[in-house]
Amino acid sequence: MGKVAVAAAAVGAAAACAVAAIVVRQRMKSAGRWAKAAAMVKELEEKCATPSGKLRHVADAMAVEMHAGLASEGGSKLKMIISYVDNLPTGDEEGMFYALDLGGTNFRVLRVRLGGREGQVVKQEFVEVAIPPHLMVGSSSELFDYIASELAKFVATEDEDLRPPPGRQRELGFTFSFPVRQTSISSGTLIKWTKGFSIEDTVGQDVVSALTSAFERQGLDMHVSALVNDTIGTLAGGRYGDKDVVAAVILGTGTNAAYVEQANAIPKWLGPPPKSGEMVINMEWGNFRSSHLPTTEFDEALDIESLNPGEQIFEKMISGMYLGDIVRRVLLKMANEASLFGDSVPPKLEIPFILRTPNMSAMHHDSSSDLRIVGATLKDILGITNTSLKTRKLVIGVCDVVARRGARLAAAGVVGILKKIGRDSSPKDGGEVPRTVVAMDGGLFEHYTLFRSCFEDTLKELLPEDLSSSVVVIQANDGSGLGAALLAASYSHYLHSDS
Ligand code: ADP
Ligand code: MG
Repeated sequence: MGKVAVAAAAVGAAAACAVAAIVVRQRMKSAGRWAKAAAMVKELEEKCATPSGKLRHVADAMAVEMHAGLASEGGSKLKMIISYVDNLPTGDEEGMFYALDLGGTNFRVLRVRLGGREGQVVKQEFVEVAIPPHLMVGSSSELFDYIASELAKFVATEDEDLRPPPGRQRELGFTFSFPVRQTSISSGTLIKWTKGFSIEDTVGQDVVSALTSAFERQGLDMHVSALVNDTIGTLAGGRYGDKDVVAAVILGTGTNAAYVEQANAIPKWLGPPPKSGEMVINMEWGNFRSSHLPTTEFDEALDIESLNPGEQIFEKMISGMYLGDIVRRVLLKMANEASLFGDSVPPKLEIPFILRTPNMSAMHHDSSSDLRIVGATLKDILGITNTSLKTRKLVIGVCDVVARRGARLAAAGVVGILKKIGRDSSPKDGGEVPRTVVAMDGGLFEHYTLFRSCFEDTLKELLPEDLSSSVVVIQANDGSGLGAALLAASYSHYLHSDS
């Protein structure tokens, strides 16, 4: 025992000397590390730069692609899908309707009682359910059966006095936020999965039939009266509250936009002419790409390693599913090449999608003097302990570059839409400037305050000054569920059978 203790003491002394030597060496090395790390952030900033001139090119490219997508099938990366929504809510909708919103990490079921012009939304109830990850990559019947069974539970909580009369089915608006080739207001085939979903047996199938079959298997009596996505739902919900809404943008797990197009700009090949003067177009703008986008090696690697390489390039630069992972990739390179987190690379930093956008946003908003939220996030999520204030500041710098680029590109996309519909400048005849409202929704926009304010500032920066008060961005908080229910009312199959 004694010998061991002596030996241990000797080892301890030697170790102390060695530690002292390492500390001296490290102090010398650390200056070089800092310079290298800071230079890497600077380089990232340059590669991600989005000066107004560049954003104007992005906006122009968006408008050009919109024209091209309308001109011919496959004419653009933008699918410009006709939504069959030519009858946006007016405020007169009445009755009880359901909505189901599937399109990300959660799905929601919603029940709303509409009281017509006087009553508006009398009552709205919803339940949100997380999608078990294995169902995102399994078979469509498993996914839809799960959804149908959750919806059936929700239907069972309906007030007894609100039950539909015998012989009348409940009606539902289905918000399905993946690219769908719409074939009518209440049918459409899935083009592809995005946002981490991959269920091969559904591609090319009618999603309403798949859902309706699941309802039947679960014994649920429910008719799908409208099939929309979150952008169309948000546009419809936004229009219900504000008649000047002309476009909707989602910034959540993924991103997309929809807008109101004039009937005379809808070519015949796209679908039947709108019964009214206008038709909502689903742009699928997540798939936009342009040589003007400031892409980096990090975006390229993220794309190649994704479930859908070569697709959704715009989405991969601006949406909540990806921003955190871009930051992780940058930090990984800084750990490798500038030893940002010490001599070894923290193993967790190698795990894709471990750093999520809400973590990034929490760090970015850290206003404490010692940046303790950054420190805690690095420790809890990435297992990186004892970070210095300098390191934490560099991490925030990376978050800032990535968030700012995303927000500014999203704003440029909106300017592209306004350009397409002639709302990006005041009327040439000198007439009154119309009010133009864009309804926004999605967790990224809602919760990432710095992203949102950068988006809003950039919109102002890109638009002429005389428009700055007439172009309005509103947050349609979960407008898409309400919007889908409203569209189920507008396109109720009882209305159709009556007429
Ligand atoms: P979905 O897009 O899945 O339908 P949401 O619109 O609620 O659902 O958006 C969820 C997404 O929003 C998350 O995947 C995440 O990327 C982003 N998000 C949620 N909370 C925050 C937050 N606090 N900060 C930044 N991004 C957030
Ligand atoms: Mg959503």
